[in-house]
Amino acid sequence: MTTELGYIPQRRGKTFAAGERFHFACHPGLACFGQCCRDINILLTPYDVLRLKNYLGISSGDFLAQYAHIFTARHSSLPVIILKMREDQDLTCSFLTEKGCRVYPVRPWSCRMAPLDQLDEDKFTLAFSEDFCLGLRESASWTPQQWMQDQGLAEYGPVEESFSRIPSLWPRPDDAGRKAMLQDLFLTLVYDLDRCRYCLGRSKELSAALGLAGGGLPAEDEDDDVGLLRHNLAYLAAGPDGEELLRLAGIIKSIGGSAGGGIA
Ligand code: SF4
Ligand code: SF4
Repeated sequence: MTTELGYIPQRRGKTFAAGERFHFACHPGLACFGQCCRDINILLTPYDVLRLKNYLGISSGDFLAQYAHIFTARHSSLPVIILKMREDQDLTCSFLTEKGCRVYPVRPWSCRMAPLDQLDEDKFTLAFSEDFCLGLRESASWTPQQWMQDQGLAEYGPVEESFSRIPSLWPRPDDAGRKAMLQDLFLTLVYDLDRCRYCLGRSKELSAALGLAGGGLPAEDEDDDVGLLRHNLAYLAAGPDGEELLRLAGIIKSIGGSAGGGIA
């Protein structure tokens, strides 16, 4: 049934393809404004962490300690980063203000995707019900492709293109100490880029092993966090063997410091 606004009722759970349309507009005039920024698990990608810490003007280590929970993925043993909610009654996102999201220009990937959930490359569903998310009753309509384009999601691909290849290649030692060392290496190379730079500046061995001889980045990527992240992801996605990764983890451990508030 179509109303005079051209609104077609939408159901949460219904799946649709990249070319099909859904209705959505989000704005401060809606009674639900900000409701979806509470009590929610927001997975941060490496590019999210990089952009957020630079936007906030803090180091990656401070960002992880202040704004992130670090968990371990069950299957890969890799650390995953979840945005911390405040410890208030509603578990409000740390970045929600009365005027909306205070990091809106660099809001995370998950926040950009909302109200969509991507099930696979060409299959989507709605993350919210219409009763919860009144924006789904608005007349503006999009295909998932149009929505992702509008939300700047295309920017993630060139930066994180190697990322999805890493979990299947990552070593899974039984020994808890070795596992923890590898997790710390991964955190440093992927999420804690300021610590990575610090370690590169203090170990020619580490720089050489990562293909960053001289303690710096290739000339075209100098002082460029995106360049460093892309480089590190490509290094890890090439599948270096476990002993070599442990050797690098040992160098980082000997330099000291730790990422964030520790891995849960
Ligand atoms: S619930 Fe929907 S319409 Fe309301 S603020 Fe969140 S995304 Fe926007
Ligand atoms: S980062 Fe911004 S958009 Fe995302 S949940 Fe927090 S306040 Fe909402």
